[in-house]
Amino acid sequence: MSDLTREQIIALDKAHVWHPYTAMDEYIAQTEPLVIRRSSGSRLFDGDGRSYLDGNSSWYCATLGHNHPRLVRALTAQAERLSHTALAGITHEPAALLARKLVDVAPAGLEHVFFSDNGSTAVEVALKMALQYWAQNGRPARTRFVALDGAFHGETLGVTALGGVEVFRRPFAAAIVDCLRVPSAADGYERAFAALESLLETEADCIAAVVLEPMVQGAAGMRTYDAAFLRHARELTRKYDVFLVLDEVFSGYGRTGPMWASEHAGVVPDMMCVAKGFTGGMLPMAATLATRRIFEGFFGGAARSFFYGHTFTGNPLGATVALEVLRVYEEELVLERAALKAQRISSAFSAFGDLPGVRTTRSLGMIGALELEGRQGYLERDGLRVYQQALRRGAYLRPLGNVIYIAPPLNISDADLDSLLEIVAESVRAVTTTG
Ligand SMILES: *Cc1c(COP(=O)(O)O)cnc(C)c1O
Repeated sequence: MSDLTREQIIALDKAHVWHPYTAMDEYIAQTEPLVIRRSSGSRLFDGDGRSYLDGNSSWYCATLGHNHPRLVRALTAQAERLSHTALAGITHEPAALLARKLVDVAPAGLEHVFFSDNGSTAVEVALKMALQYWAQNGRPARTRFVALDGAFHGETLGVTALGGVEVFRRPFAAAIVDCLRVPSAADGYERAFAALESLLETEADCIAAVVLEPMVQGAAGMRTYDAAFLRHARELTRKYDVFLVLDEVFSGYGRTGPMWASEHAGVVPDMMCVAKGFTGGMLPMAATLATRRIFEGFFGGAARSFFYGHTFTGNPLGATVALEVLRVYEEELVLERAALKAQRISSAFSAFGDLPGVRTTRSLGMIGALELEGRQGYLERDGLRVYQQALRRGAYLRPLGNVIYIAPPLNISDADLDSLLEIVAESVRAVTTTG
């Protein structure tokens, strides 16, 4: 591989790369981006001898850390055998084995697996599956979705309609069919529950599905809520025979403690969306799991088949890595070992509540978050000042507005976790005590 200098890379980048969620004029004029050369375990390395603890597992994907040797081996071996084939009228061992393994680890009753490329498409699949199911099974008026205030389910136009984070939605509002909205369960589950109940009571005939991020609304600022809301949502959707879709894209793979966040409430959804930790951050791949009832609702000839698919649906490389991820979880006791780290995160973040300038803190499993005082909102800037402080101290802590959080690899070493927690405290202090 050619080794450009850091300056050469940045020059090319600023000339041509359009970054996500980034004011590009400011970026070009002001930003000194990190140039990452390699990664290993919980760290990103910049090539100038500096490393950064990956505070958010590279957007929550690298649940097993970077370049886990077993994932690397599985990927390279599969690449030499079969990298890609279509999945229509063709199948292969990685897809078949992975589907079986997923069904084994998923909540009981989710028996069928539809593969796609990323978290957004995993939810998009669920929306289209619900719509087509009702359309061809006698309830064509069921075309609307219910989502929470502050919800985030991804970026396609379909799931943007579910999004309740205003800045992400506003530019597209005119082009999307708005969903029915329930107050965030993070603002009190009783209120959310009552709103959901009255909505289902009056509108169930036109509702295709209720879509929820179980236990924690990540993009809204790591806002956690009571498992009782999930239980009630399951009871209500059963009562009115409306589908419950759980978006486990962020919360799955042990992020909140158990393998699936739905386990906190002991509920089984009609559809479950998984991505992010799915391939341990190695390849873009996702899946939507569904019940037999939904699967069989598409029986009855070509005109009733599910009209959906991506070029890379079921990609053998992604499937191989995803299968190896599940084996590593079992054989390395990833969830069991993370439980102790989750306790450290929880007690550290409780203590951060006493830091100057911190309004509130919360934690759940391998997530710890604190809210800075001051105006809230995705575009607020104090969080970015903490981010800059953390970079200097060797951690990548990209904030959500004024919410500083960590969601590190589940298998982060105790020493790295301690360093990360210390950097959070020092970086917050550096910003809030100097004004
Ligand atoms: C990140 C995320 C998505 C979107 O996943 P992408 O892979 O970024 O498309 C959907 N839902 C939740 C809960 C997420 O955290």
